[in-house]
Amino acid sequence: MAEVFKNYNIKNESTFKIGGTVKEVVFPESVDELLSLLEKNEYDYVLGNCSNILFSSEFINKKIIITKRIKEFSINERIIKVSAGTLGTEVSKECLKKNLTGFEFMIGFPGSFGGMIYMNASAHNQAISDTFISARVYDKDSKTILTLNKNDMNFKYRHSILCEKNYILLEAKFELNFGEYEKINDTMQRNIEFRKSKQASLKYPNAGSIFKNPENDSAGRLLDLCEMKGQKEGGAMVFENHANFIINYDNATSSDVITLMYKMYSKVRENYRIDIRPEIKYIGETGAEEYKLWEIMNSENTQTIQK
Ligand SMILES: Cc1cc2nc3c(=O)[nH]c(=O)nc-3n(C[C@H](O)[C@H](O)[C@H](O)COP(=O)(O)OP(=O)(O)OC[C@H]3O[C@@H](n4cnc5c(N)ncnc54)[C@H](O)[C@@H]3O)c2cc1C
Repeated sequence: MAEVFKNYNIKNESTFKIGGTVKEVVFPESVDELLSLLEKNEYDYVLGNCSNILFSSEFINKKIIITKRIKEFSINERIIKVSAGTLGTEVSKECLKKNLTGFEFMIGFPGSFGGMIYMNASAHNQAISDTFISARVYDKDSKTILTLNKNDMNFKYRHSILCEKNYILLEAKFELNFGEYEKINDTMQRNIEFRKSKQASLKYPNAGSIFKNPENDSAGRLLDLCEMKGQKEGGAMVFENHANFIINYDNATSSDVITLMYKMYSKVRENYRIDIRPEIKYIGETGAEEYKLWEIMNSENTQTIQK
């Protein structure tokens, strides 16, 4: 039964460990429960594992569905069926046991399939779109369930049709290939080692890459050149091993993170005349002071200035 919480402290649900009180949060435990909630048409957001989210530290007057308790998935030969809340890392471990290759990149990162398909998650030269076959989504506008094939998905870098339409992912199907256990395992171990050495692991609360890579460049490289590593704002700090990660090292607030992001954004704009855009999503009230900075960083009016 979906658990509902009023005035819920959201902080510990996010990998950033930042956030205030939310008016209502509900945790469905199956796709059917998710669907019944969506049919009520009362909810402002559907989230997965909240690993790409910055929640405001102030009161959030919203109703949120979090799917992370929906863990259903199945593997039949090369076909994988997953539900919205299933964590990629859990499925990738099962794929290894069955000698299936294609999900090695998911090992050790905290996305659910809903979140990963939403933004076409990728790493280590693999992307969720590579093995995707189809998805069942709920269209909030027509209030119907649709089946989308790969051609319908408009997958691009950090983008899918889910970013354009009011579609909520319910379930998805993938086709992987059989490979050699040793090879799959080696790739996974290498991916884990890379994350440990280069990225902020979940030991330091964070939300993954903060900015998207601009075309033909890397946000991390530009921020590194701007000497952002180790820069601080309140309890937030640019990670010392990777300039495109912010860690919550000492009870950071959303305002600390956004102020630091704005410094990063401004420095790259000033030095390289490039606008880097946030990859993480912000959930808060539009009237808040921090929201103004957020809007500037996302505004189409601050277009990339030609070099
Ligand atoms: C340590 C760390 C490492 C990371 N490494 C990577 C990486 O290598 N590659 C990468 O791509 N990302 C990475 N990320 C970022 C993050 O894990 C991914 O963006 C992931 O896809 C987010 O999944 P989530 O379930 O946490 O989504 P959430 O953060 O909960 O939500 C993200 C977005 O997806 C939408 N969404 C979630 N579920 C659904 C649904 N069912 N239907 C429609 N929309 C939905 C939400 O509305 C929101 O807009 C990393 C994050 C961390 C903390």
